[in-house]
Amino acid sequence: MSPTNLLQFDRAGLVDWFAAHGEKPFRARQVFRWMHQRGVADFADMSDLAKPLRAWLRDAARLESLPVLAEQRSRDGTVKWLFDVGAGDAVETVFIPEAQRNTLCVSSQAGCAMACRFCSTGAQGFSRNLTTAEILAQLWQAEFNMRTSLGLAAGERAISNVVMMGMGEPLQNYSALVPALRSMLDDDGYGLSRRRVTVSTSGVVPMIDRLAADCPVALAVSLHAPNDALRDDLVPLNRKYPLAELLDACERYLVHAPRDFITFEYCMLDGVNDAPEHARQLVHLLRDRIPCKFNLIPFNPFPQSGLARSPAGRMAAFAQILLDAGFVTTVRKTRGDDIDAACGQLAGDVQDRIRRKPGRAGTSSVVPPQTIIPIRVETASPTTHLSNLD
Ligand code: SAH
Ligand code: SF4
Repeated sequence: MSPTNLLQFDRAGLVDWFAAHGEKPFRARQVFRWMHQRGVADFADMSDLAKPLRAWLRDAARLESLPVLAEQRSRDGTVKWLFDVGAGDAVETVFIPEAQRNTLCVSSQAGCAMACRFCSTGAQGFSRNLTTAEILAQLWQAEFNMRTSLGLAAGERAISNVVMMGMGEPLQNYSALVPALRSMLDDDGYGLSRRRVTVSTSGVVPMIDRLAADCPVALAVSLHAPNDALRDDLVPLNRKYPLAELLDACERYLVHAPRDFITFEYCMLDGVNDAPEHARQLVHLLRDRIPCKFNLIPFNPFPQSGLARSPAGRMAAFAQILLDAGFVTTVRKTRGDDIDAACGQLAGDVQDRIRRKPGRAGTSSVVPPQTIIPIRVETASPTTHLSNLD
């Protein structure tokens, strides 16, 4: 039997797996802490486990890190990894340091089936869902890589916030997402508070309700339009779950949410959704209905999108209308602009090269892995990443 990748389990899952092999729950907890609190990948180093248990784990289990295809470090401290998830697929993970927090942007799928018009991940199409292990490995590898590179003392954590805003629609990969979220929240894991873990969705209404019941965390909704006609065009999922249903789901979510507001993301597209009238429609739609904050995202252009970023003045005027109506509104900052193109573009750029590469690299026993394959990246536009989320 091939060894079991323990990164696929939340703590309860690991307890079950240990129990199925006649091992006690507290042993599972010890192993979970070694993995996620200390980043230890080699069972031989888990010094408070009995030697026979370590020997069994060596044969029966493994911690499989994702091979790194590229790692880029910006002058502003932003770090971006491109991880190989096999069969020609790659996903991005981004570390974004700020004064009050360090945020990790995590991917949930290779590609995306939602086909939003302004999104380069959507333009790539859907390849497959990531596994729980692949979602969590992004945090595991980034956390311990950054502890080392930031020179943190033992016990200090590098990452304070996680946003599921990388590639893919997290609520279309629900069963893999939830155990990964639970490990992020677990005090024996990463110990992140529910307010500091954000799931971003284009509006998968039934799954918003399930998340509220199973694992309420902060919710960001990619709105991008103030009416159904425009949203049908920009976010095709709107044809299935129109605005009225989406906003009802947001209201229901707020009953369980760890924060008392929803964050609405709104990608600013020149001449498409950025007129003062659109801002006024948003006010009309949401005021007195949903406690919310707006995060205006300058569009990151990519080839063949046929779209352009709104000019700064137009964004400022749009933001002002929302602010005047009493909505907390931020324009997302540009980060890591010296390292490469915008979120979602890098993976598409290297896809051909990965497909030509021979089989997947083997399991690494160290965190982080050092298998970095240098690639050339075309610089297209500044990267805009999710600042100002609080
Ligand atoms: N699928 C989820 C999460 C990933 S996308 C969602 O759609 O919410 C994360 C955020 O980046 C979303 O708000 C998305 O609309 C936005 N985004 C996608 N492509 C973009 C682009 N080219 N420029 C700016 N923001 C973009
Ligand atoms: Fe998928 Fe989100 Fe991109 Fe839409 S914006 S295609 S849901 S990743």
